[in-house]
Amino acid sequence: MSEVPDYIPLAMMNAYAYCPRRFYYEFTLGEMVVNEYVLAGQQLHERVDQPGQTKREGKLQLRRVYLCAPKLGLNGYCDLLEAETEGLGTGDLVTLAQAGQLYPVEYKKGKLGQWLSDHIQLCCQALALEEGLAVPAGTIRHGYVFYFGSARREEVAIDEALRLRTQDLVKEARQVARQSYPPVPITNRRKCKDCSLEPICLPREILAFEANKRKKGATNDGDFVSD
Ligand code: SF4
Repeated sequence: MSEVPDYIPLAMMNAYAYCPRRFYYEFTLGEMVVNEYVLAGQQLHERVDQPGQTKREGKLQLRRVYLCAPKLGLNGYCDLLEAETEGLGTGDLVTLAQAGQLYPVEYKKGKLGQWLSDHIQLCCQALALEEGLAVPAGTIRHGYVFYFGSARREEVAIDEALRLRTQDLVKEARQVARQSYPPVPITNRRKCKDCSLEPICLPREILAFEANKRKKGATNDGDFVSD
């Protein structure tokens, strides 16, 4: 069992929801493969990652906002915090949140509705924001994921089901981070095809190896995986 840092970065919760093995490689082992797609994503993000604040047409926008939630054990950046200020006449985030007008926006390079892991990351931001502002759970009711590939925003309801799922995943991620070995690869080939870690993870080979071992009735000697 290894020590887990007090905080899991918000973006790592996206990795966990996408694939626990990916999370383990990136968070626990610190592995990162920068291929052309990762690089393209980083370049797109550079445009929106400039910290700053604007207020126009009844909207307040705060870019690259640091969130820290000690109780949840999450921290990291929210790409954009946005609020409809029309009629509220204030820049106070607690007031805006209580009026149901404050929401997080996350930017992604892919296309609309591809993976639910983006919703989990957004929900983590909402939960961290509620904790940071000391407002009741449920105050942040929605958020958006903007997909560069579709050039559209998807509205995501931060509802009870998503909150519970997200909280469960945060607990699970903490447990997985403590393991001495990475979790087994997932069997979703589409996800693996889009995953930059595929060349070092070798999901097909590991799954075939494990299946073969089971077939032969061999005991798991902990060579590769452990729960
Ligand atoms: S290649 Fe597949 S199993 Fe391996 S880390 Fe990526 S998504 Fe997970």
